[in-house]
Amino acid sequence: MGTTKEWLDENLKDWKKPVSTSSMTDGLGCARKFLYRSKWRLKPRISPFTPNASVGKYLHRLQELGPDGVDTLREEVIKTHEKLLKEINQGGDLTGELSAKAHQIGETLDKAIAIARIYWEVVKPAEYIEILAREQTVESKVLTVRGELPVLNRIDRIDRDSRNGSVWVRDTKCTGQGFDSVLTGYTWCVQCRMYRVATRSWLTISGRSDKLVGFILDMITIPGIKYCPTTKDKPEDGGFNHYIQRVKEWYKEHEEKGEEMMTSMAIQYTEPLFHPEFVSKLDLIHTLWAMDPDPVQFERDQTKTHCFAYRRKCPYFDLCNSDVSAWPSTIEQRYELRPGTKEGDVMDKEDEVGSGGDD
Ligand code: SF4
Repeated sequence: MGTTKEWLDENLKDWKKPVSTSSMTDGLGCARKFLYRSKWRLKPRISPFTPNASVGKYLHRLQELGPDGVDTLREEVIKTHEKLLKEINQGGDLTGELSAKAHQIGETLDKAIAIARIYWEVVKPAEYIEILAREQTVESKVLTVRGELPVLNRIDRIDRDSRNGSVWVRDTKCTGQGFDSVLTGYTWCVQCRMYRVATRSWLTISGRSDKLVGFILDMITIPGIKYCPTTKDKPEDGGFNHYIQRVKEWYKEHEEKGEEMMTSMAIQYTEPLFHPEFVSKLDLIHTLWAMDPDPVQFERDQTKTHCFAYRRKCPYFDLCNSDVSAWPSTIEQRYELRPGTKEGDVMDKEDEVGSGGDD
């Protein structure tokens, strides 16, 4: 029988995929997480269902599809639901997470549709705004002390103000925790800076000379009420339209208490694109990206800050909390490879939107 190191070398590959915003955020928080998630591309076979992230995911999809795409999304979610039920019926739900997901998936879809409908009504596109790109994946390279580092980002929207030719990156954030949680530090966070890099590359690739000037954040509070088709939103009362009306009233009630529910905020870039503090972090990530995947060299987060970020236990805790000799069986039983590791795979959604709680 071989050693654990031999097993790791034989069974786990250093994929060296382009660095996304979320993998960079992982790496800056915890080098070990960068190894598990971005280099070895492991993901737990079963993850806890996070309703707010699910609402965010569906809302992004609706923005991509537009008002006529609601039925398309419903069909996609029905297929996911059927797949979940099949897995549950085949006895694959040992922890109950799949049942929880199957139960809540419809609720999060309802909320995303209600939010999108209200958003489309409230935030009418100005006639001088030209949408240059939607859900745009951009693969490019950034220069670090080690040379060129491949990076990959997915931008919600790139807008151009036809009055002066200025270009804005646009992103939608759904949150259940108040807008402060999104806005605090946003101008210098990795996402803001990586999206700026990506948009600048996209403009260059597209042969455009427009000036990229800032970021627009559309922030939306996830409603705390759900669609109740058999009680509060019966068909004779208006069904889903009645629910949308209730959500509007819920927003109004909270706004009257001084809470922000749905707003757009523009942030103009004032710092250089390659600010020294960003450059030093790109250098650090490039070092992790290039290093041999030897776990000893990838330190765990000794502050524990990232072990319980977004009030969720890190999905790799079982590995960090056990001796390396136990990893082969732990990995075989509890982890699988993330998408993007087989020919023809689509990009992992988490690569695009981050692995956080809210989105
Ligand atoms: S459990 Fe903590 S130390 Fe381990 S990978 Fe996750 S964040 Fe890092």
